[in-house]
Amino acid sequence: MKLYNTLSRAIENFNPIDENLVKIYTCGPTVYNYAHLGNLRTYIHEDILEKTLRYVGYPVKRVMNITDVGHLESDADDGEDKMLKGAKRENKTVWEIAQHYTDAFFADIEKLNIKKADITARATDYIDDYIEFIKGLEKKGFTYIANGNVYFDITKVENYTKLSGMDLEQLRTASRDDVSIDVHKKNPQDFVLWFTKSKFENQAMKWDSPWGVGYPGWHIECSVISLKNLGEQMDIHCGGVDHIPVHHTNEIAQTESYTGKPWVKYWWHSEFLIDQDGKMSKSKGEFLTLSLVEKKGFNPLSYRYYVLNSHYRKQLAFSFDSLDSAENAYIKLKNRVKNIKENVGDLQEGTGLSPGAKSYREEFKACLEDDLNTANAITVLFNVLKADNIQDSEKIKLVEDFEQVLSLGLLKD
Ligand code: AMP
Ligand code: ZN
Repeated sequence: MKLYNTLSRAIENFNPIDENLVKIYTCGPTVYNYAHLGNLRTYIHEDILEKTLRYVGYPVKRVMNITDVGHLESDADDGEDKMLKGAKRENKTVWEIAQHYTDAFFADIEKLNIKKADITARATDYIDDYIEFIKGLEKKGFTYIANGNVYFDITKVENYTKLSGMDLEQLRTASRDDVSIDVHKKNPQDFVLWFTKSKFENQAMKWDSPWGVGYPGWHIECSVISLKNLGEQMDIHCGGVDHIPVHHTNEIAQTESYTGKPWVKYWWHSEFLIDQDGKMSKSKGEFLTLSLVEKKGFNPLSYRYYVLNSHYRKQLAFSFDSLDSAENAYIKLKNRVKNIKENVGDLQEGTGLSPGAKSYREEFKACLEDDLNTANAITVLFNVLKADNIQDSEKIKLVEDFEQVLSLGLLKD
């Protein structure tokens, strides 16, 4: 299997650290609002990644966090606290906001046939572990305290920007996000491990720590949750491309400083879904959610189909017109499968595939193994349905087989 690795900036052969268990970590949602279609595009592609690994025969363990604390508007520790912003907007507590949007996230992914991670971890459940982790970094000399906050000093790390390949100046510009720079940082890219001096009033989520009452910085949760659940090294770490210059860069800096070992073998990033204005945003009044898609009469699985027709490393421009075309194609596909299924009746268990059918399976697998080329995999599915060298019963068996990865609900009524 071949996968693009952001770290090497090349397509590589995938060789897991341990063939008996592929370990994957996925950055999960920040639960201060609904997921938008862009977020969901990334989760669909991550679902394909996991299911492809299982399809080609690897056992997989996947962990995902739920960010319910500490994520400020800018990934570089500036701007308003996202959870607090949600709570103010809806006149609820931050805990109520977190619960509501966590539930909404799980409802969305279920509608999109996205498999839940084997372990989903709420960031607020790991506070003691963050404290231990920061103590470890402190002992090794990677931190400093300024204005009451504990910072990570990026000059203590060799090759801090190895993931993005940017120089520090490029990185500074990339992470500025039009918000004020924290004057207490020694270097603009230093990041907060533990906040005690919060500039935000009514910070409801706070805990005692050796540095005072406060709360963790955002990047720490992914490092600690993965160390606790996957150990010191893992195969694949996933997320959207926006996380490359700051969040994942900081995750690497602190984790490798803590363990003294290389951490992630393959960094996997999904490109953005963009709208007509070029950027998908939750801050506009009516942003693009799965509920909106449903309200407009679309089947959520038409959105999955739409996403699978693009490659995860290419940007995709969303419009309801293109979703409409995708839905028409999806309905036709489903009807075609239904007609064939009706001809076949009940499938006999245990009968193997003919050489013709097997070669379609190989072709399908090869598309996925080619850096997850889902669009080509769907073309193979169409070829199967119109093939005249295999029986209808075999076609349905192949659909059943392909559905392990595609998960388009093709055999459901
Ligand atoms: P968030 O809830 O903002 O932390 O984002 C959840 C996931 O969605 C992360 O993996 C982000 O990198 C990803 N993401 C954010 N915006 C987009 C977008 N427009 N298109 C695709 N993925 C995105
Ligand atoms: Zn993360």
